[in-house]
Amino acid sequence: MFCAANSKPSKRASSRVTSDEAEILHIPAAELRRALAEIPGVSKTIVDALIMRRRRLRRDREFAGMRVLASRDARDGHQLDDFLDKNRIPHRLVDFESEQGRALSERFHLTTRDLPVLITPAGARLRRPSLREVAREAGLLRSVAEEDETEVLCDLAIVGAGPAGLAAAVYAASEGLKTVVLESYAPGGQAGSSSLIENFFGFPTGIGGGELTWLAQLQAYRFGAKFSTPAAALSLQYNPDGEYRVCLETEGCGAVLRAKAALITTGADYRRLEAEGREQFEGVGVYYAATALEGQLCRNETVVVAGSGNSAGQAAMFLSDGAAKVLLLVRGNNMKMSTYLSRRVEACANIDILYHTEIRKMSGGKKLEQIELENTKTGERRVVRTPAVFSMIGAKPCTDWLPPEIDRDANGFIKTGMSVAGAPAWQANKHQPSPLETSLPGIFAAGDVRSGSVKRCAAAVGEGGMAVAGVQTALAASAESS
Ligand SMILES: Cc1cc2nc3c(=O)[nH]c(=O)nc-3n(C[C@H](O)[C@H](O)[C@H](O)COP(=O)(O)OP(=O)(O)OC[C@H]3O[C@@H](n4cnc5c(N)ncnc54)[C@H](O)[C@@H]3O)c2cc1C
Repeated sequence: MFCAANSKPSKRASSRVTSDEAEILHIPAAELRRALAEIPGVSKTIVDALIMRRRRLRRDREFAGMRVLASRDARDGHQLDDFLDKNRIPHRLVDFESEQGRALSERFHLTTRDLPVLITPAGARLRRPSLREVAREAGLLRSVAEEDETEVLCDLAIVGAGPAGLAAAVYAASEGLKTVVLESYAPGGQAGSSSLIENFFGFPTGIGGGELTWLAQLQAYRFGAKFSTPAAALSLQYNPDGEYRVCLETEGCGAVLRAKAALITTGADYRRLEAEGREQFEGVGVYYAATALEGQLCRNETVVVAGSGNSAGQAAMFLSDGAAKVLLLVRGNNMKMSTYLSRRVEACANIDILYHTEIRKMSGGKKLEQIELENTKTGERRVVRTPAVFSMIGAKPCTDWLPPEIDRDANGFIKTGMSVAGAPAWQANKHQPSPLETSLPGIFAAGDVRSGSVKRCAAAVGEGGMAVAGVQTALAASAESS
């Protein structure tokens, strides 16, 4: 059982309590966390209430929590807004030039030089704050270490809180592993920026990527996983002989994180098209993969593929089967795909290749409806009606921070399983790497960052869960040999 102390209702706490029978219990945070993980009756009521409250705050137009005061088109203001949004902190973005913006700037003596400004619920002003300052103010910046600690120990360190890292955090924490998750920007990863994921099982009409990954994060919290955001992993050191084989250095944290095992789920950065309005249509008109699902959306329509490499060529060929027309946009004057593929693309009757062409603008209602193209050689612009743009302009795996002993493929994605069985660290080992284990025993990779992975949300979630099974086996093997 968890311990609780009764107390008289305080003014603040009782402001919404109307019953005379109400009683307030003070429960130490650690005990509350334990109750959430171990007593389903308690956790359901509390977690449901927290979810409802957060949803209501996000919907409430009058909510005067955090406010970001910024000029309408300023990039830095939008970044603060995006950061708070992706971390699901209720807030409002106020246009400096609006009536409300002018009133706020007069009241707080703010000028354009101060922008963007974060105004806290208590009225404090943070002028041009860094993301870390914003995170601290929003209560996100929970260091994994106490002030006087120089190292933190855990069973599993998960780096990256996209779908793969979050799924692993849920499974690992629920299996009793002491789990720490490091995330450099906001939990949710790429899925967090998808407005509607329609192919995730269990949601017949789709679910917002932010909502899906936020619920997963709450679930991981509930089982006791510790999160630190924003906290990029800066480097990884490997000690094959110690119990805590992995040592991670983390952004903004003086202490090192030592883990018995690590899971790398840092995903990939998809290069984004620089077209006005693009963000609004992520997942509802702008896609990063062309599969049967997207193919159905484009049946008998004109669709657009941007890119000149193999992935663009393959997408164009695949889509040409059902679409009325495919426009393949190439920035320069030639394609960079394999010869066999470029020949097939050129020969395909309903693919038009537009060289020197870029998308300038995307527009529509709830979904993409049309785009504006520019021929960069002639400056000529034209509008094309289309429900889908496939962005195939490349992805870069987030693996720069890793040591060279973690084998990667030619594009930098992490190799796992039998493809690393010949690595020096495995040759001296009596076990073989499990399917998601890297060239260093006890270090795993899952999701988009893994070489050969299917770049899909469900696949990342499945791999995250599967990696935890491998972690359990590796921990057992390591305990056996020590
Ligand atoms: C706009 C968009 C729409 C999509 N729509 C769909 C869809 O409808 N259906 C579908 O199945 N798939 C969709 N996808 C693909 C899907 O979202 C990805 O396959 C999935 O998110 C991959 O999950 P992941 O956990 O492997 O990596 P990511 O989601 O990329 O997460 C990686 C995380 O690691 C963090 N990170 C990176 N480096 C570090 C570091 N050094 N330290 C700490 N943290 C770090 C990043 O900030 C990020 O949060 C979409 C992708 C995008 C971009």
